[in-house]
Amino acid sequence: ATPMSIMVGVGRGAQLGILVRRAEALEILEKVDVVLVDKTGTLTEGKPRVVAVRSLDGDADALMRIAAGLEAASEHPLAGAILAEARARGLTPAAARDFASATGKGVTGHVAGAEVAIGQQALMADRGIDLAPLADEAAALRRDGATVVFVAVNGGLSGLIAIADPVKASTPAALAALRADGVRVIMLTGDNRATAEAVAAGLGITEIEAETLPAQKAEHVARLRRAGHVVAMAGDGVNDAPALAAADIGIAMGTGTDIAIESAGITLLGGDLAGIADARALSRATMRNIR
Ligand code: ADP
Ligand code: MG
Repeated sequence: ATPMSIMVGVGRGAQLGILVRRAEALEILEKVDVVLVDKTGTLTEGKPRVVAVRSLDGDADALMRIAAGLEAASEHPLAGAILAEARARGLTPAAARDFASATGKGVTGHVAGAEVAIGQQALMADRGIDLAPLADEAAALRRDGATVVFVAVNGGLSGLIAIADPVKASTPAALAALRADGVRVIMLTGDNRATAEAVAAGLGITEIEAETLPAQKAEHVARLRRAGHVVAMAGDGVNDAPALAAADIGIAMGTGTDIAIESAGITLLGGDLAGIADARALSRATMRNIR
């Protein structure tokens, strides 16, 4: 590859909102046949809002005060949604200590003297907490595409918080462009399978890897590469960084975390996924100039 054509391609990319950090990305992109796409913050806006709060003892505000206290120490987008909901309800978050985050699962700590865990099913299963009292309600919320996090206090189930994150307005057209280009699109998410399926169905995505921990996201990328595919991974979160680094090309959302951007060869300013198809066209044009 002649450096000149690549430099022209990098410059043209910048005009299109496609920042190329690794010049090889422009050589590889035209060969990509599989794109793995993170759900939260990549397909969706990454601006989740609380849509339901359910406390088994009927005191939703008390549950939110506890949840907001613990989530105040988390940088996860779901934590931001819980804090915003507490604020909207005029609640002061309870004081928390011993905060710890179980990546891809949730958060734990002490709030107002009680042991609190907030997160997905697996976090509750790790702690032997029975979810049966809220199982039907959780299933219904997930069918609507909401993410459900459970709240446990002193080892017992206390309630749930449902959070919804709208799909980006630009996502359907961006996926259509990739499919028209013959690219296979697979959703990769740490979120619950039922929630992931509801969001995927609305987008016409039929391949889903749900409930994946960060290391498993990277394993999916590696497995597809071993099978002979040229793989691009698009993501925004801390949890996506290993998979971005493991792909032939990592594509970070400009709206995402610094660690995702540092792990990627390409960054899409504004987080518009249409940039993937645009970048492939740019890659083809660049390589045509070289050949
Ligand atoms: P994604 O791959 O969709 O971006 P993550 O891997 O970041 O999702 O998170 C997976 C799941 O872990 C979330 O859907 C949620 O159930 C749980 N989780 C992660 N962080 C938190 C948190 N701060 N509070 C509550 N739940 C959390
Ligand atoms: Mg994400």
